[in-house]
Amino acid sequence: MNYIEQVKDKIKNTYPNEKEFIQATSEVLDSLSLVINSDSRYQEHSLLEKLIEPERIISFDVHWIDDQGKEQINKGYRVQFNSVLGPYKGGLRFHPSVNLSVLKFLGFEQIFKNALTGLELGGGKGGSNFDPKGKSDAEIKRFCEAFMDKLYKYIGPTIDVPAGDIGVGAKEITYLLEEYKRKTNSNEVGVLTGKAIKDGGSLGRKEATGYGLLYFVEEMLKYNKLSLKDKKILVSGSGNVAIYAIEKAIELGAKVISASDSNGYIIDEDGIDLNILKQIKEEQKLRIKEYINYKDSARYFEGNVFNAMIDFDIALPCATQNEITLKEAQNIHKHHCMLVAEGANMPTNNEAIEYFKENNILHAPGKASNAGGVSVSGLEMIQNKLHETWSKEKVDNKLKEIMYNIHSSCINACLKYNIDPRNYIFGANVAGFLRVSEEMLKH
Ligand code: GLU
Repeated sequence: MNYIEQVKDKIKNTYPNEKEFIQATSEVLDSLSLVINSDSRYQEHSLLEKLIEPERIISFDVHWIDDQGKEQINKGYRVQFNSVLGPYKGGLRFHPSVNLSVLKFLGFEQIFKNALTGLELGGGKGGSNFDPKGKSDAEIKRFCEAFMDKLYKYIGPTIDVPAGDIGVGAKEITYLLEEYKRKTNSNEVGVLTGKAIKDGGSLGRKEATGYGLLYFVEEMLKYNKLSLKDKKILVSGSGNVAIYAIEKAIELGAKVISASDSNGYIIDEDGIDLNILKQIKEEQKLRIKEYINYKDSARYFEGNVFNAMIDFDIALPCATQNEITLKEAQNIHKHHCMLVAEGANMPTNNEAIEYFKENNILHAPGKASNAGGVSVSGLEMIQNKLHETWSKEKVDNKLKEIMYNIHSSCINACLKYNIDPRNYIFGANVAGFLRVSEEMLKH
C-alpha cells in the first residue's frame, strides 16, 4: 500500500466517526500523490502523519444563563492544528452542527488556505454547538463571555488569534474581546480579528471574503479569456460572505439572481436588489423568504438553490459544507454553468468535485477562493501590531494582490507537475502543501 493510502487508512481507523474530517483529508491527500511520490523526504519524516494530527485540541463545557434564569450547557472547542507558519489562525463557528469532526475539517483546510495567502499564519478553528438563532442579545453576550472564560488562557496575539465564522460576527467578537481583556487585565486587542472598527478592527474586513471571492473569479475568467460582464450568477447563502460576494459581483457587471438560507431560496431574474437583501438580513435578521414581499420579480422555493430549474453561468456556494452533492452538481451542469467558486468551506462533496472535473466545469476550492477573509484578518493583525489604521482602499488593494497571487500559485503548481492549469483543486492543495511542508521539514 502506498504512503498516501496508509495515511488515509490511519485516519479512518483512528477517527471512524469523523466523516467531515475524513472527507476533507481524503480530498487533499488524493491530490498530493504526484508530489508525495516525487520526494522520499515526506515519508522519511512522517510528514503526512504530522500534518493530519492537530498539535493541540482544547475542549470545554460552556455554562451560561438564559433569559429565564436557567443554566444552559454547551460544548466549546479550539483546534490548534498547525503553527509552523505562524500563530494558529482561524474562525470560531457557533452553530448546532458543530462537533469535533467539523472543526477538525475546518482547521485542516485552514492550514492550506492560510499558507496560500503568503502571510505568516498557522491554521486553527474553534467554536461551539450553541445556536445563536432565536437567542436574545443578552443571551448571546452571556454565552460569549462564558465561552471566553474557558478559552482565554490558550490564545494570544502570538499564540492563537481566533476570528468569526458562521454565527460569529463583529458583535460577538466585541463580547469575546471585552471578556478577554477583563480576564487578562490587559488592553490587548491583537488577540482576535474581525473586530468592530472602534475596537481596532480593519476597514474592509467585513467585505473581504465576498470581495476576495470575486477577485479570484475574475482571475479565473481572465485566464480563460472571459469576463464577469453580463454573467448570470447563482449564489447560495445570505450571510456575510454571500452579501458581499453579491455586492462585488454586481459592481463588476454581473447579474446575481439568487440568495438562500437553510429553508429555501429566492430567484429574482431582474437581479437581486442588494439594499433589500441587506435590510432583511443585516438589519432585521429575518428569513430570506421575506424578500418576495419587497419585489414582484422574485419567487421563493423551498430546498437547495443548486436544484433550481434555471440557466446560469456561474455558481458561488456561500452557505456551508456539503451543499453540492452529485445531484446538485448534475443540475449545475444541466443548466450550462461553466464555473463554480466556493465562498463557503467545503460546500462541494468529493463526488461532485469529480463530476465537475469530468465535465470540464472550472472549480475553485474554498481554501483558495475564500481566502480573502483570513487574508484581511492577517492585515488586521499587522495593523494592530504596528498601531496603524489603513484606509479601506489600501486594504482592498492588498486583498486584490493576495487573491491574484493565490490564483497564480494555483496555476504555477499545476504547470510544475504538468497538470492541466484549470485544475484548481490540484493547484491549491499542492501550492498550500508545498509552503507548509517545506517549513515543517526544516524543523
Ligand atoms: N472563518 C474565516 C475562514 O474560514 C476567517 C478566519 C479568520 O479570519 O481568521 O477563513
